[in-house]
Amino acid sequence: MATPPAACETIPREVDLLVLGAGAAGMTAALVAAIEGLDVLVCEKAGQLGGTTATSAGTIWIPENQENIRAGFTGDSRQAAGRYLDQLIDQPEHGRAARESFLAHGPEVLTWLAQHTDVKFLPCGDYPDYLDEDGAATRGRTVIPEPFDARLLGDQFHRVRPPIAEFMVLGGMMVGKADIPHLLNRFKSLAAFRYAASLFLRFLADRLKYPRGTRLMLGNALVARLFYSLVRRKVPIAFETRLETLLMAQGKVVGATLRRGEQSFQVLARKGVVLATGGFGRNPTLRSAFMSPAVKDSMTVPENQGDGIAAALQIKALTMPERHGSGAFWSPVSRTGSGTWAGLYPHLAMDRAKPGLIAVNAQGHRFVNEAVSYHHFTLAMFETHKAAPASPVWLICEAAFVRKYGLGAIHPGTSRLKPYVAKGWIVMADSLALLARGIGVDAASLQASVTRHNQFAVSGVDEDFAKGSTALNRYNGDASNRPNPCLAPIVKAPFCAMAVWPAEIGTSTGLEADAHGRVLNQQGEVIEGLYACGNDLASVMRGTYPGPGTTLGPALVFGYLVAKHATASSRVAHPSSHTALPEALVP
Ligand SMILES: Cc1cc2nc3c(=O)[nH]c(=O)nc-3n(C[C@H](O)[C@H](O)[C@H](O)COP(=O)(O)OP(=O)(O)OC[C@H]3O[C@@H](n4cnc5c(N)ncnc54)[C@H](O)[C@@H]3O)c2cc1C
Repeated sequence: MATPPAACETIPREVDLLVLGAGAAGMTAALVAAIEGLDVLVCEKAGQLGGTTATSAGTIWIPENQENIRAGFTGDSRQAAGRYLDQLIDQPEHGRAARESFLAHGPEVLTWLAQHTDVKFLPCGDYPDYLDEDGAATRGRTVIPEPFDARLLGDQFHRVRPPIAEFMVLGGMMVGKADIPHLLNRFKSLAAFRYAASLFLRFLADRLKYPRGTRLMLGNALVARLFYSLVRRKVPIAFETRLETLLMAQGKVVGATLRRGEQSFQVLARKGVVLATGGFGRNPTLRSAFMSPAVKDSMTVPENQGDGIAAALQIKALTMPERHGSGAFWSPVSRTGSGTWAGLYPHLAMDRAKPGLIAVNAQGHRFVNEAVSYHHFTLAMFETHKAAPASPVWLICEAAFVRKYGLGAIHPGTSRLKPYVAKGWIVMADSLALLARGIGVDAASLQASVTRHNQFAVSGVDEDFAKGSTALNRYNGDASNRPNPCLAPIVKAPFCAMAVWPAEIGTSTGLEADAHGRVLNQQGEVIEGLYACGNDLASVMRGTYPGPGTTLGPALVFGYLVAKHATASSRVAHPSSHTALPEALVP
């Protein structure tokens, strides 16, 4: 059981390292620095920690990691991953030093965390990269956090931001991919029944004491593991305390002005300040500069308003020198309007690749291989709706498909679909012509799209978009479906349609930094005392999306690197000798 409360009521005047933001990146930086012996303060704007990381799938892309190698998924190399990234990135010389640092240190970071902290990982094994290019891998590059028993956090559990409601069942139970077959088959096999029963019983017991289930998975497990490790090391976390501005002395960053409610504080940082405030997904000005202004939906947490980037820009940091690749990482989302903080469901991997589903644009035409990654699917949405990028596209399938595989937030195994029609999540009709009318697309085009797709389902070869042709397609398809795990005819009424819109799941454009995560100024020189990690840092992938875990991999690695660098560095300045700074205000 975690003993000391993590919440820090009194803000210290001076620390070694001041970490702003408690997502994957900030908490990793704080944890590594604390273990290395630094006096650390974490400031988190929200009342709960975890940020977007807490709501994520928690996959982490680290080429040549030991977790997969030990599990027998060998053959990967850092050099192959480097070649792969060079193929994807427009101008690969941009940001090369930071990218090579990521590749060089990634495996060491996972090993170090697993050895020194409670942050442990499991290999994902056969999880393919997202694009078929030279150097891509079909296995071995991705890890996930080990599930976490949140009872260990005791009464600190309420500090962990929950996942989105749509990622839980029964109003609070997390379910992983491996659980789904057991839950679906609970009345078909004794083993599955026992498995499902143990999950339900654990959940019921949890609910007597906790606000939600304590068996945490995915990004929520990562966050809880980082938090638990911080609590065990008594690292203070100031909740509801946010960065306002950075404090400078003689050209160096020496601390920050923070705000909690009506109060303002100045905290001096002997070894540096780490910006880890999660990027600018909720900052309208930066959004309109770096994304299509028509895209309104964001899956990042409401607190991620670009505060770290804005504070660094005020001191003339170098950011967004060119709009590399895409300004954000994307997913198609359906709108559930369920009253959650987001009300959006990201169509990441559960439905689009399955056999018997096509996506059509506003004209009723297929426009993409539906089984590509969420990021590449959304880029195709932009392309097909260039003139109206905020228009939805439609996922089309039989009602039987929804019952079998689920669709968006409608879970597999759901027998009654009418309630979801009533809620407006899906449109259902007894013919394709009626469905077309219901969603406002041309009936003849929709019929033609379905007919042509059905021919491909029989031959097993999608001659238009090659659905089912890549390792990734097949990984997310249904292996028991023949001849192509991603293609089945859409013939039997009733038919369903679900609208999906583009939304960003993280921003990719951010502060430029060197190989240690030290932020650069507009002359390309290091700003002493200022570090960035997570989505405050320009993505080392330069707006491309190589594979599962594209943002969390670098977030952990640069969290680690900034802490190691700060530990090794001499003091940034001696704040007490800096008379220009006003007295720090401590409540
Ligand atoms: C549904 C979904 C699934 C995803 N799945 C994956 C996945 O499997 N793998 C992957 O790599 N990526 C995934 N992502 C993207 C990933 O979650 C984010 O890119 C990543 O979590 C960003 O980490 P971060 O530490 O930079 O920011 P965050 O985790 O968002 O943390 C930032 C923190 O900073 C705080 N903050 C903001 N402003 C301030 C301030 N002024 N002062 C102090 N604190 C502040 C915020 O409250 C927040 O707690 C997914 C995203 C979504 C939405």
